[in-house]
Amino acid sequence: MSEPDLARNLETLDGYLARFRDTGIRNRIAGADRDGGGGVFQTTSPVDESLICDVARSDAGDVDAAARAAADAFPAWRDMPATERRRILIDVAEAIEARAEEIALCECWDTGQTLRFMSKAALRGAENFRYFAGQVTSARDGQNLPSPTLVNITTRTPIGPVGVITPWNTPFMLSTWKIAPALAAGCTVVHKPAEASPLTARLLVEIAEEAGLPPGVLNVVNGYGEDAGRALTEHALIKAIAFVGESRTGSLITKQGADTLKRVHLELGGKNPVIVFDDADLERALDAVIFMIYSINGERCTSSSRLLVQDTIKEEFEARLVARVNNIKVGHPLDPATEVGPLVTREHFDKVTGYFDIARADGATIAAGGGRMGEEGFYVKPTLFTDATNDMRCAREEIFGPVLTSIPFGTEEEALRIANDTAYGLTGYVWTNDLTRALRVTDRLEAGMIWVNSENVRHLPTPFGGVKASGMGRDGGDWSFEFYMEQKHIGFATGAHKIMRLGAG
Ligand code: NAD
Repeated sequence: MSEPDLARNLETLDGYLARFRDTGIRNRIAGADRDGGGGVFQTTSPVDESLICDVARSDAGDVDAAARAAADAFPAWRDMPATERRRILIDVAEAIEARAEEIALCECWDTGQTLRFMSKAALRGAENFRYFAGQVTSARDGQNLPSPTLVNITTRTPIGPVGVITPWNTPFMLSTWKIAPALAAGCTVVHKPAEASPLTARLLVEIAEEAGLPPGVLNVVNGYGEDAGRALTEHALIKAIAFVGESRTGSLITKQGADTLKRVHLELGGKNPVIVFDDADLERALDAVIFMIYSINGERCTSSSRLLVQDTIKEEFEARLVARVNNIKVGHPLDPATEVGPLVTREHFDKVTGYFDIARADGATIAAGGGRMGEEGFYVKPTLFTDATNDMRCAREEIFGPVLTSIPFGTEEEALRIANDTAYGLTGYVWTNDLTRALRVTDRLEAGMIWVNSENVRHLPTPFGGVKASGMGRDGGDWSFEFYMEQKHIGFATGAHKIMRLGAG
């Protein structure tokens, strides 16, 4: 354990948190701090359950004020010259980088994510702003699709004020991932961060305003999903909802938004397979399998939570896996050496640890981990279930923790059948050196994103999103703008073409 680094990080964090202890986290609406109509709730750290601060608990009135602020700010933001809007977003990216340490330390303390990963998350947030700033185009951007009688042009315009609702697993990165393209498109935003992780949403709005984002362009309402979140999805001034979270919440949001015909983009859960064939580079496959389920505390939607391993290599692969999993460093999230930190809340900790008994009762073997770690904080041992079958709950349900379920298969056909036998379809990972097999398997794998001989490597211009219960819609590149913008078709007659004359005798 790197005691001096940990001690230094704790001291630095204390300085950053002092202001929140004094003022709590208030809503930010039209560039001003506002209390929540529902009073406050408290946010605590998963490290030791200590109080971090009070947070505004918003009700429908607060959401209404934020939606009106976003609607008021919309025309000027929409009509701002592209170069100016781009400049502001780049300034936001630079300001995020300047406060990356503060963001990372606060994120770790709030969520239990480790500094090892969150230091990069802050920088990835900056990269989201920089990338989408580069995508900003003029409002008159479009195509010419000529026909014999018309010049047909298209233009696109921002859809209007939008709601962004985010989860707690990597809140800063995910918020910027949604908010940056919305702002780049010319939309204004009301952000409702997860109640379990409000700190960095507050930092983001502050940073953005200080960097020059006009008041009301980004507003933050804190609080619970069932009141603040629900009110946002139902508000008539909010034209679209970009949501990241659980599949059942995505379904609720779709229903809640139906009366106002809300456009919804859903990035939901996953139970993603990683298929390891016996001809693969097993060294690299092992590294990737471990990385994709035990990094970010296993609290990641793209985690490869189902290992499908060919029976010819199962014994050796699982034995090597057990040795590595038992060696993963679980500890304080602010210790730079830590690989897995505490889970975000007691509720989530209870859910994840509950699967140890469920898996055992269903007949799986706990080959590594399978218990809590220490008495304080929500630490769990990285866990591996073996001898599992795909009908067990540990293979079907999204556990969302550092817990891997290993299932053997014999043939390619069987691997595909097991991989696709799930409600979800976010990512898939295929390990083989047989090119034609890789093509066959990726062709039939039911997932929005597939990596061959690789862990998940995000490239912003590529489409990100899932199929089945993992969501609908895509982010990245121009796909983000398809969601946040409306296409308009305008036809100009090139000559006096014949118009059918009804009622002319
Ligand atoms: P969650 O669905 O419980 O909450 C997400 C957000 O929705 C929170 O802000 C919450 O307050 C809000 N919410 C809850 N009920 C609501 C309602 N009725 N109306 C409006 N808003 C409501 O999810 P979580 O537990 O915070 O996050 C974990 C989940 O997120 C996992 O399922 C994970 O797979 C998923 N996730 C998906 C992606 C992806 O890109 N596909 C990325 C990260 C996380």
